[in-house]
Amino acid sequence: MKRAKNSNDHGQAGVCQRPSLSASSPTEDIMATTSRSTTSRSPEFMPACGCCGHERGFPVEGHADVRTCERCGGLNGRCYLGQSYTLVLPQWDAPDACDPADQQYFDLECLGSGGITRRHGWFNPATRKITQVG
Ligand SMILES: [Zn+2]
Repeated sequence: MKRAKNSNDHGQAGVCQRPSLSASSPTEDIMATTSRSTTSRSPEFMPACGCCGHERGFPVEGHADVRTCERCGGLNGRCYLGQSYTLVLPQWDAPDACDPADQQYFDLECLGSGGITRRHGWFNPATRKITQVG
């Protein structure tokens, strides 16, 4: 027992213990990443939804200023015009491809080379194509 204590006092063992203490932080990082992915699905404040007026929505990955309405699932926010085409394609959906009950509202303020364009209407979430404008 005394020998072990002496070797600790010489510092070598103490130095060795520090890295093993910091080795617990990668585990904390993994736990933080896990909880972050669940908290990203919690609704945040957003300007009133253009469809239902609800003021809370889920963040959309890759789009800092776009939210998916918590109540109706509509897309609300602003982004670059090119980015908005990854959310809603600039194409009409096939006439009978989407059940009216399945279509989703979108209202996006888009900044493009021609200035700010408002893209709003309804789209088919399965194909991301437009079913109705305005
Ligand atoms: Zn809504």
